[in-house]
Amino acid sequence: MTKPKVADLLHEPGCGHNHKKGDNKACSQQAKPGAAQGGCAFDGASITLVPITDAAHLVHGPTACAGNSWGSRGSLSSGATTYQLGLTTDVKENDIIFGGEKKLYSAIAQVINRYHPPAVFVYATCVTSLIGDDLEAVCRAATEQFQTPTIPVQAPGFTGTKNLGNRLAGEALFEYVVGTQEPEYTTPYDINLIGEYNVAGELWGVLPLLEKVGIRVLSKITGDATFREICYAHRAKLNVMICSKALINLGRKMEETYGIPYIEESFYGVADMNRCLRHIAEKLGDEELKARVETLIATETAKLDTALAPYRKRLQGKRIVLYTGGVKSWSIISAAQDLGMKVVATSTKKSTEEDKAKIKELLGEDGIMLSKGNAKELLKVIENTNADMLVAGGRNQYTALKARIPFLDVNQERHNPYAGYRGLIEMAKEFDHVLHSPIWEQVREPAPWSLVTSH
Ligand code: SF4
Repeated sequence: MTKPKVADLLHEPGCGHNHKKGDNKACSQQAKPGAAQGGCAFDGASITLVPITDAAHLVHGPTACAGNSWGSRGSLSSGATTYQLGLTTDVKENDIIFGGEKKLYSAIAQVINRYHPPAVFVYATCVTSLIGDDLEAVCRAATEQFQTPTIPVQAPGFTGTKNLGNRLAGEALFEYVVGTQEPEYTTPYDINLIGEYNVAGELWGVLPLLEKVGIRVLSKITGDATFREICYAHRAKLNVMICSKALINLGRKMEETYGIPYIEESFYGVADMNRCLRHIAEKLGDEELKARVETLIATETAKLDTALAPYRKRLQGKRIVLYTGGVKSWSIISAAQDLGMKVVATSTKKSTEEDKAKIKELLGEDGIMLSKGNAKELLKVIENTNADMLVAGGRNQYTALKARIPFLDVNQERHNPYAGYRGLIEMAKEFDHVLHSPIWEQVREPAPWSLVTSH
């Protein structure tokens, strides 16, 4: 990965804010040394590519790199399970001294002979990039020798943030995968979903809706995807970027090369789900499809209103502090508002300028946007806003416990699907469950020893 290529990705023209002079911090911000808990570029690349379920994912580096991210995301599969294998070349001191290319080549051979995957993704890491292993050359040789696409993913951790890693993964897909095969047939209603990783099976709450109105998802990039379906993604009529600018480079390049337009949508909450379906129908430009979408929205929202009524009553007016990254910092606001809840503060630490604009619009004047944050700050905000619960990633649960308020995990480690109409019911159930758990009354009581009086 050359410096100019990284610079290009950091100044992606598809991001609106990159056109404004001096206002493109969100893309070009680099992780500071020692502050990479949020995940490195390699981590970001694996988030994007590992959900390709039938491919093998081989990490060329020390075991710790693979262990760092392996199995931490709940991207589910409806078929193959090859993606769940934790494969690494386990680079050691000797390889650092003498080079790791031979080891990598024999690891690829072993993976192909043993698992027969349709493709192998090979990930560079800091160590193997610093010692100068030529990943591209090894992958090229392996592709020729074993007649199995072996794709180099050049996103070593030191290149930058998780977001940049997502984009670098998009580059690998664009360069080596998209456009290499043809689908059996196409329809005027073929779309690709980009940036949806089927965490906790979220995709399965949305696909039936699209199917019902006659929209075919040609390629899922990459949640629950097969390698082959990504190869023919270039035949879709529309790219739908889900909740994210992370793969915007892939969307833009597919538009430039194959003439596929792209839109950015979210599956969280009624309003966003309705808007997403309407936008897809509008872009595909079919009047009958538009009518079918309206019928579906009317039926689903009526069903949803009945299912949500008891929860809305119990959740009405509850105050949430939202502390999560990127797009979820606005898409969850919209979903919570659908349930009658109020988001009083949200984090904008990892949000792009577009995300921030949406947050501002959704939160209104009083909403607090947290651009920096640590546990101490968060506790202060919880206290000042009199929040009823914290909605965040797993590592913040102890902050919520300290504040003696309920906590809900909405990050990639979550176990419940929140997307689509079905997902909103799931979310309402979870909110209700954690907010009204009897444990909170007990937790907030004074400790028994503080009530002991001296005789
Ligand atoms: S790729 Fe680099 S930053 Fe990422 S886990 Fe490995 S050593 Fe750490």
